[in-house]
Amino acid sequence: MMTDFPSLAEAEARDAADPLRGWRERFALPEGVIYLDGNSLGALPVATRGLMHDAVDRQWGEGLIRSWNDADWIGAPRRIGDKIARLIGAAPGEVIACDSVTVNLYKLMGAILAARPGQGRTILTESGNFPTDLHVAAGIAAQHGLVLDAAARDSIVEQIGPDVALIVLTHVHYKTGDRFDMAAIQALADAHGVPLIWDLSHSTGAVPLNMAADAARFAVGCGYKYLNGGPGAPAFLYVAAEALEFLGSPIQGWMGHAAPFAMTDGYEPAPGIERFLAGTPPMLSLLALEAGVDLMLEADCHALWGKSQALFDFLSQLMAARCPELVPITPARGDLRGSHASFVHPNAWPINRALIDAGVIGDFRAPDVLRLGLTPLYLGFADIWHAVDRLATIMGEGRWQRDEYKVATRVT
Ligand SMILES: *Cc1c(COP(=O)(O)O)cnc(C)c1O
Repeated sequence: MMTDFPSLAEAEARDAADPLRGWRERFALPEGVIYLDGNSLGALPVATRGLMHDAVDRQWGEGLIRSWNDADWIGAPRRIGDKIARLIGAAPGEVIACDSVTVNLYKLMGAILAARPGQGRTILTESGNFPTDLHVAAGIAAQHGLVLDAAARDSIVEQIGPDVALIVLTHVHYKTGDRFDMAAIQALADAHGVPLIWDLSHSTGAVPLNMAADAARFAVGCGYKYLNGGPGAPAFLYVAAEALEFLGSPIQGWMGHAAPFAMTDGYEPAPGIERFLAGTPPMLSLLALEAGVDLMLEADCHALWGKSQALFDFLSQLMAARCPELVPITPARGDLRGSHASFVHPNAWPINRALIDAGVIGDFRAPDVLRLGLTPLYLGFADIWHAVDRLATIMGEGRWQRDEYKVATRVT
């Protein structure tokens, strides 16, 4: 027997009453597509188009090399970093926009370990963490003669002790959506004197963050997910002001030099967070990221998170009633998760392919997870309703069993 579930009329009524509804117009989303993958690649803000035209035609085309000064290209990593700082509860001068999450993890881990030689034997992280976090940690551990301890999620707290040289945790898990209690784990790490790096890739722009209030001193995060910075957008790196002077980037590049254009032989790190820059910043990508960050700064992150939770509850209710064969694995409680909802099914891959064909873009994470991202800036309750309705049809008809949906793609 089918359980009761909310009607489309109910969804439309909730959209009509939603004070955040107008934000959708700020995104250039294709007609007829319900986009549930903003947690993997954010949507295109309308403003980004114009800014990109200006960046290419005026700043680059006409300004040429003069734009490094005239358009303040040289100041972009720090300027955008200061804006991201406002999103994560950090101070100006504590965040720099640069490189990828991977490279920033490498720089920050290397910097912290070099500043505390001989302290601890292991790098502690979570087994099943995002692959790049594990790979970088394994590489750095080998370089520094340390052991990588990838512990089960529920045993991490017990592992924190004097043996640990460095902890690297992803705040919101990319697959399950599980969220760590940042303040509590940070306090525990601090009690043992162990530095802790937070990966905020699935948190920034999704859940309210406050580095200062949670006493978090080190973090990295992603620009192309909830910040809508564009494909391969630069990432960011955060170091609390009090810790900065003790750290030097293991990639000593000229852009991290105190005076890059003094063109000196010797390396002297920039006094500020710029010391974590390496090479010449990718200006077009940075300017696209800035447009996404500006848009996010206009929104009220607490209102966004409130709507994200309402969308999550709505989705959960519909899924339980209409697609019970997909098993939810994301915690129901808001304070225990991020802004996506994941479901397990042995045929999650072809189901996701069939869903995309039906105009609903979610994604698949190996081996069996269907992941649906909830981005309150441009999704409404009717979108969620239609998405589940189409998924229920696909499941009911067994449409996912078609051969065409079994074909693998390079990116999932
Ligand atoms: C998306 C994501 C990354 C991405 O790393 P890149 O170097 O930017 O490709 C890293 N870590 C986590 C936890 C992520 O979710």
